[in-house]
Amino acid sequence: DRVLELRNISKRFGNGTLAVENLGLSLARGSFVSLLGPSGCGKSTVLRMIAGLSEPTSGDVVRQGTKGAIGFVFQEPTLMPWETALSNTTLPLDLAGVPRDEARRRAAEALDKVGLKGFEDALPRELSGGMKMRVSIARAIVTRPQVLLLDEPFAALDEITRFKLNNDLLRLWQDQRFTAVFVTHSVFESVYLSQRVIVMAARPGRLHADLAISPDAERG
Ligand code: ADP
Ligand code: ADP
Repeated sequence: DRVLELRNISKRFGNGTLAVENLGLSLARGSFVSLLGPSGCGKSTVLRMIAGLSEPTSGDVVRQGTKGAIGFVFQEPTLMPWETALSNTTLPLDLAGVPRDEARRRAAEALDKVGLKGFEDALPRELSGGMKMRVSIARAIVTRPQVLLLDEPFAALDEITRFKLNNDLLRLWQDQRFTAVFVTHSVFESVYLSQRVIVMAARPGRLHADLAISPDAERG
């Protein structure tokens, strides 16, 4: 069962930069896949095209039964500084017109799932970097998306916080059963998290290798 298919996509920006060239990929529903490669190889561009935030210049992105529900976690938590953790988390539900009480109940549940029970009323400036990232993840999963895209989400965090977040993300994935596409330039992180590592080459936007990582039932 395939949830996403990239059919020979290329992206050339208005300034002439060829960021992605003839990339073809097919992702199994419920899998955890990493996109690994050096800075500038086109990882974010691929993720943005999967999300529909940017259109390929040629080729097609085919989404199967994602019902428009794709969650996106950016490297910067991008929280509204004057809103509480709970209000930041309800945002996608507010935009979708979900009634306020239901939105607040679901947001509290999402915060609980990322380990932030008791922090509903905290403002972003009262939270550590790792906690702000947890709010970002809660906001991305509160709509129960079929696909969760993460663009170097932990790159700015210290090693220990990063390791904890890796484990908690794996647990969340096992619990929620979304398809995860995780962009990173950390070899460790990609191998630790994923069932499949897609390596992009320094030559922009080219597939370099597609590696199956053996499943480990004990993990997470
Ligand atoms: P296009 O309009 O060519 O399809 P997108 O809409 O996908 O491009 O992205 C445009 C956005 O990317 C703009 O907000 C722009 O500020 C930003 N941007 C421009 N140059 C770069 C760059 N070199 N790296 C990352 N982002 C860039
Ligand atoms: P990565 O995520 O692997 O670091 P990106 O997808 O951000 O790589 O960028 C791939 C290439 O495309 C880089 O050379 C970058 O400078 C360029 N680029 C990204 N966005 C834009 C844009 N909106 N306009 C022009 N060039 C861009």
